[in-house]
Amino acid sequence: MGKPTGFLEYGRVDATNRPIRDRIEDFEEFHALQATEVLTEQAARCMDCGVSFCHAGLSVDGLSIGCPLSNLIPEINDLVYRGLYETAYERLRKTHPFPEFTGRICPALCEGSCTLGEHELPVTIKDIEHFLDKHATAAGNLVPRIPTVRTGYKVAVIGSGPAGLACAEHLNQLGETVTVFERADRPGGLLTYGIPNMKLDKGIVARRVDIMQKEGVRFELGAEVGVDVPLASLLSEYDALVLCGGATQARMLAVPGGDLVGVAPAVTYLTNATRRLIDEGFEGEEHLSAEGKDVFIIGGGDTGNDCVATAIRQGARSVTQFEITPKPVETRAADNPWPLWPRVFKTDYGQYEAIEVFGHDPREFETSVAEVVGDEQGRVKAVRAMRYKNFRPVEGTDETRPAGLVLIAMGFLGPERTLIDALQLACDARGNVKTAPGHYATSLPSVFSAGDMRRGQSLVVWALMEGRQAAEECHGFLNKPS
Ligand SMILES: Cc1cc2nc3c(=O)[nH]c(=O)nc-3n(C[C@H](O)[C@H](O)[C@H](O)COP(=O)(O)OP(=O)(O)OC[C@H]3O[C@@H](n4cnc5c(N)ncnc54)[C@H](O)[C@@H]3O)c2cc1C
Ligand code: SF4
Repeated sequence: MGKPTGFLEYGRVDATNRPIRDRIEDFEEFHALQATEVLTEQAARCMDCGVSFCHAGLSVDGLSIGCPLSNLIPEINDLVYRGLYETAYERLRKTHPFPEFTGRICPALCEGSCTLGEHELPVTIKDIEHFLDKHATAAGNLVPRIPTVRTGYKVAVIGSGPAGLACAEHLNQLGETVTVFERADRPGGLLTYGIPNMKLDKGIVARRVDIMQKEGVRFELGAEVGVDVPLASLLSEYDALVLCGGATQARMLAVPGGDLVGVAPAVTYLTNATRRLIDEGFEGEEHLSAEGKDVFIIGGGDTGNDCVATAIRQGARSVTQFEITPKPVETRAADNPWPLWPRVFKTDYGQYEAIEVFGHDPREFETSVAEVVGDEQGRVKAVRAMRYKNFRPVEGTDETRPAGLVLIAMGFLGPERTLIDALQLACDARGNVKTAPGHYATSLPSVFSAGDMRRGQSLVVWALMEGRQAAEECHGFLNKPS
């Protein structure tokens, strides 16, 4: 513990992001970082408490306690306080394959469980992680680590989201020969096509994939397993398969007019926006641009917030976000004590942008759409909004409002069925691939699964943790003494 009195001397200082009026003019990343000396003081706030929960990596009643990757947070903070940034990065990399992703987009489960956070504001753990990535990049320390031993076993990883990337990286480091199959034209899963560029620059994902290729991982893109690549050939050519296909089945809007032109799943819209940005000459589908439109986003969560921010950058006339549940409480409820993740009202970057641009929070709680109204060409022209109580519409609260784009951000129903049905894999009650608790082997020998496909829609940090652990289990299976 670098400075025993640090938490008494220094208050929390958050990074000041790019000013809203500047950043909404482009799709560049909005994160900024505190100055090095400020971050060093912030690291000194860590108390190295005897029972630190920040790295516990537990899940209780569906709520997280601490970092799923079990990052060695107090040690890292201590090293940062001492100015040993390179050692701190190495310490971080012991448990964490890709700090460059979570330093930007993790909701910081660790901070929800920081002991200092019980009485004061928690340590800025995520910003310190972001800083260490930037420092390592500037110092030229993000270099391929070429494995020195090869076991001779071949593993196919299906899906290149964070779970697939973490799994492939770890298997490769353990000596297996790994090929990643990805149906999209670029690797990264939702890191590439889902999470908007202003939150995670696509160059950061490409840089990691480039390093992994130099380390020996092969990527087959535009290769949908079960469609372009027969499963039978993978099962015979590879010693093991790890399925990391995500939970990509979006929940759709089951109301009259829910299929009109101008109603789209959030990920389709966000993918379209990213492609316009990174694919030269890509025009996209005109009906999926928010420019000049009144945009309604159904779903008040993080994906909806990404849609708010994207629509603002595209020049929407207005942006409204409907959430059917009541507004969350401002401070922890009695049944949500520290160190559980706090279920409290939060305002995210897109919502702050909407407040600045339109003068009010875009969210309307206990409200949703009862009908989408179309014009003669079958295009959206209005929504009929209603107030809801306990998920039931309240009679007499109908209000028809002009709309040009309706985006559905109501969560995901689970993994797609193609691979699961073809392999006849056992699934849990929610339709996710079933494995024993804390394990990754599926009901089919030599087939493993990790990430959203196994645990349901979750977070990047959980996907990374699962990918690494599945790699360990797969490696153990292949290399068990006979
Ligand atoms: C809009 C949005 C924003 C989000 N923002 C955040 C955030 O800020 N922070 C955070 O922590 N989490 C965020 N999440 C959640 C996070 O992105 C996911 O939990 C995470 O990406 C899951 O990783 P995964 O590897 O399991 O699956 P995915 O990232 O979904 O990757 C699955 C991959 O498998 C591929 N695939 C599927 N089937 C096949 C097949 N048969 N053959 C070949 N390839 C196949 C898919 O094309 C895809 O690339 C967000 C989610 C969304 C939708
Ligand atoms: S990965 Fe996320 S939860 Fe883990 S230490 Fe980093 S910011 Fe915290």
